[in-house]
Amino acid sequence: MTLRCIVPFCPKTGRGDPDQEEFICRAHWRRVDRATWRAYNAAHAKASAADRLPGPPDTPEKVEAYKAVTDLWERCTAQALASIHLAH
Ligand SMILES: [Zn+2]
Repeated sequence: MTLRCIVPFCPKTGRGDPDQEEFICRAHWRRVDRATWRAYNAAHAKASAADRLPGPPDTPEKVEAYKAVTDLWERCTAQALASIHLAH
């Protein structure tokens, strides 16, 4: 699936995760602070691992892993979007 970068007026497109509806281009990822994207990557890896666990998708550890990755994704997008005000 091809997605447009979430930052307004950014012309970049890319492939999103199959389960992700939003995309941040490489240039805008650089505006997300390191601690946040590292935490996001870790949470994403955990959620992928949780996906492969047997059982229904709503076990407490799966729900927690999905919530963590969603929260961190929101923090990443907020930082990428906040940065547009600093760029000018
Ligand atoms: Zn962008």
